Amino acid sequence: MTWNPDSILALTAELKDLLGERGVSTELRARERASADGSYLSPIITEQLPLGLADLVAYPTSAEQIAEVVAAAVRHGVGITPRGKGTGNYGQAIPMQDGLVLDMSRARAITEVGDGFLTAEAGASMAVLEQAANDAGQQILMYPSTANSSLGGFLSGGSGGTGSVANGMNHQGFVTALDVVHAVPDARLVHVDGDEAQPFVHTYGTAGIIARATIRLEPRQDWRAFYASFDDFGQVLSLIRSFAALTPTPRLVSGDLAALSDALPNDAALPAGRASLRGILEVTTIDAATRLVEAAGGRVEAVRDGVMDSMKMSMISYNHPIEWLQKTAPGKYFHIEVGGEALIEQIDAVHAVYDGGMLHIEAQQSGPIGMLAGIYESAEQVYAGFAVLNALGVGVHNPHHWEVDHEVERTRALAQVTDPQSLLNPGKLPLATAAVSA
Ligand SMILES: Cc1cc2nc3c(=O)[nH]c(=O)nc-3n(C[C@H](O)[C@H](O)[C@H](O)COP(=O)(O)OP(=O)(O)OC[C@H]3O[C@@H](n4cnc5c(N)ncnc54)[C@H](O)[C@@H]3O)c2cc1C
Repeated sequence: MTWNPDSILALTAELKDLLGERGVSTELRARERASADGSYLSPIITEQLPLGLADLVAYPTSAEQIAEVVAAAVRHGVGITPRGKGTGNYGQAIPMQDGLVLDMSRARAITEVGDGFLTAEAGASMAVLEQAANDAGQQILMYPSTANSSLGGFLSGGSGGTGSVANGMNHQGFVTALDVVHAVPDARLVHVDGDEAQPFVHTYGTAGIIARATIRLEPRQDWRAFYASFDDFGQVLSLIRSFAALTPTPRLVSGDLAALSDALPNDAALPAGRASLRGILEVTTIDAATRLVEAAGGRVEAVRDGVMDSMKMSMISYNHPIEWLQKTAPGKYFHIEVGGEALIEQIDAVHAVYDGGMLHIEAQQSGPIGMLAGIYESAEQVYAGFAVLNALGVGVHNPHHWEVDHEVERTRALAQVTDPQSLLNPGKLPLATAAVSA
């Protein structure tokens, strides 16, 4: 335990008064559950687990209660690790210095759905927000492949997903306003709009807890889940740009080698031994997409209508093919995040960087990105590949660490004001700028 045991006891008692007996837990199972996240995807981090264990877990049920919990923790001098659904990769939500885990998954009210915007509490799930937007004839600009994860967690730890082909990343204007909580003894909800809200996005809660957020909506479109298959991954790659350029822009364009597609859950639209190209496509582009697939020598396997089918396709995008691959051979594979046109133009050289190299590719507004898997030997072997990839023109993001690597200087400057005692998500904001290329 990093924090004064008497302070933990006093905080537990105060939070029970505030939230009731069911609003706080010091039971080991609850503390362990609240101290784990998606870091099992990284063999490098897995070797270092456990990295921390919550002393207590609080479950506020409203944005206002989130502020009251933060205020109490600050008054008792106890570190606070914010948490949504705990699906974030790489230890972002692990309480590295123990202390309080602030689980916000029960604070999930949708307070307003307006024309072009939606306001909800941090714990609301992205899938539920999409449903609420759909009910109002709209859609959210983007949601991650972990569609059941929380709004606060996606804004704080995530970056993009379904919708990013047209709308970019979640720190590029997706958020229009936030109610944040600073780590001060009289903490309350602080409303920030527009540009003032952006510095709180993708910073793991180190500069403030997001208690409520307003995100942009756009008019609802008529989507289809489109599945095609090919003899060869090269045919898939040859279509990534043309699919991304369909008008209206697709919501998602994903491609997999046969070996990765075979690791996905059984589906007649993912035939064994064939490379897969999938897209959430606007209905009027289906004919054009079909022509592109046939001209490239592939075949269309399915075109499915309905929100659930689109959501299902989202849930096998981004990191999910890697997660499924790892299930087929536990402990065997690692992955890194890569980006750039070289993923299409130099795929053989990219695959050759690591033993067993396999690329899962996604189209994004900024160009193709991907998850490159390989057979794991050691951290040194993983890092040695970065320079080789850079030389090929491939940008690399290292997913095997838990420190904030977006706008670090800006976040540090903000946190000096909003978290003067460094109590927010301790251990995540690096003291010196991390060298990371995206
Ligand atoms: C298989 C797999 C696929 C994934 N696919 C995607 C993807 O497509 N796109 C993507 O962007 N991410 C993806 N992720 C990462 C992650 O699932 C998402 O970013 C998700 O939206 C995180 O939400 P969460 O509720 O689980 O957050 P958590 O894991 O609980 O938290 C994430 C981070 O935010 C902090 N935090 C949580 N809530 C708040 C809050 N209210 N205020 C301040 N800080 C907070 C936490 O401390 C942590 O640092 C994937 C992960 C896995 C394992």
